[in-house]
Amino acid sequence: VGATNDEESAAKVAAANADSGAPTIFDKIIAKEIPSSIVYEDDMVLAFRDINPQAPIHVVLIPKNRDGLTQLGKAESRHMEILGQLLYAAKKVAEKEGILDGFRVVINNGPDGCQSVYHLHLHVLGGRQMKWPPG
Ligand code: 5GP
Repeated sequence: VGATNDEESAAKVAAANADSGAPTIFDKIIAKEIPSSIVYEDDMVLAFRDINPQAPIHVVLIPKNRDGLTQLGKAESRHMEILGQLLYAAKKVAEKEGILDGFRVVINNGPDGCQSVYHLHLHVLGGRQMKWPPG
């Protein structure tokens, strides 16, 4: 099942603002201006439960310093370290959540990828049988 028209248009509006440099909702989560259920945190990475979970366990991991990484498609060589840290943190989250036997890591990129928040993030999903191909 594909994205609804609403989802597609929301993604396109967000994409149009992607490089505006404007703060996103995730900046407020980092600043703890809005509450979130934090499951893991270190100097570079913050991981919190998704407000609209797509699986029994659904955690979002973000770099605390966006540094131009609105989306994976904007990655440059200076981002290699944080990209590695995010992926390693995803494994730690999966371990902490007890889903090392099966989980999925997703990065939605750009409007066709259904990205809605333009601050790079990984989704860790688990706690149910995943299906392939994804929608
Ligand atoms: P994207 O669609 O960009 O890949 O993922 C953004 C994710 O952030 C979505 O799954 C959405 O549910 C989640 N999200 C958006 N706003 C908030 C919020 O205020 N709090 C939390 N915990 N998650 C959010």
